[in-house]
Amino acid sequence: MKFRKSPVKAATKTTAKKPAQKVKKTPVKPLTALKPAAKTPARGKLPARLLQAGEPAPYRIENAKGSAPVLIVCDHASNRVPKALNNVGLSKADLEKHIAWDPGTENIGRYMSDKLDAAAFFATYSRIVVDVNRGERSPECMREVSDHIQVPGNKGLSAAQKRQRLDEIFWPYHRALTGQIKNYLKKGIVPVIVSLHSFTPEMDGFKRPWHIGVLWNKEEEIARRVVENLRAQNPGMVVGENEPYTLKQANLTKNTIKTHAEDTGLPYVIVEFRQDLVATKRDALKWGRIFLEALAPILMDEGLYRPRRERERTVSKKPASRKPARAKPAKKKPLRKAAK
Ligand SMILES: [Zn+2]
Repeated sequence: MKFRKSPVKAATKTTAKKPAQKVKKTPVKPLTALKPAAKTPARGKLPARLLQAGEPAPYRIENAKGSAPVLIVCDHASNRVPKALNNVGLSKADLEKHIAWDPGTENIGRYMSDKLDAAAFFATYSRIVVDVNRGERSPECMREVSDHIQVPGNKGLSAAQKRQRLDEIFWPYHRALTGQIKNYLKKGIVPVIVSLHSFTPEMDGFKRPWHIGVLWNKEEEIARRVVENLRAQNPGMVVGENEPYTLKQANLTKNTIKTHAEDTGLPYVIVEFRQDLVATKRDALKWGRIFLEALAPILMDEGLYRPRRERERTVSKKPASRKPARAKPAKKKPLRKAAK
């Protein structure tokens, strides 16, 4: 789960230090003289630091000491672009689109954090700058084109430019998330990770029919219970199971939940809200409530707060259908709050 820092400093320090004049004057040993220059970015100016004074850290933790054994994570909460990147060449209108963020998720995350008294972890920079929910080497981590929209500021990034985004945004985000999770584990708490996303209603001409989607890879048990509750509590709701996409897709083999929950066995659920349904704060809170009502009975189950290996030993023996744990006495303070 530890993230290794990439050696960006060595590369950035060499930037534009080699005077061309010197090379001309010493033609006898051009190879040794030119060697360091190979590390300089091929194109584009690299600021000493990407994030400037007054700009936020790449993550924000709200209600950090919340009492619930639940951590809410919003990878795509923000469409902010560091000033140095000049909106990555996108118009303000394009930065409002799903290519830059998951509208609605910040409001839903705050709502759930409040109702559950749970810590919430938000990304503070746009996914179009660097997508923390992808592998660092994935072409989708810094997309040159997203949903048919060209991203001028991401074209032909040098290795040093990519490393700078990773070093100043991507890795600090993941290290802080690791640290936040460790805080629970140190206290002997296995937290449930609740990952919030939203999806565009239409992709490549296809109108996505789902109101909400639940995603999983190995953590199927919790996901199925959430789907079951959503359907039972909201007749007529179209609930996607591993829709609008599945975590089993090749381009999603590395992502936030895989790294921080699936690979380590922490219980998790990933939910996707349709963006046109959560566009206003009022609607976002409404859908936050709908989702929380489906999730809350599951969070009441004390057996949930164990590593997956332990849970599978007992869960696999249970029958396929089970009643939600709503009838259980509200032992956990956050859930009493959620029931309001
Ligand atoms: Zn997302």
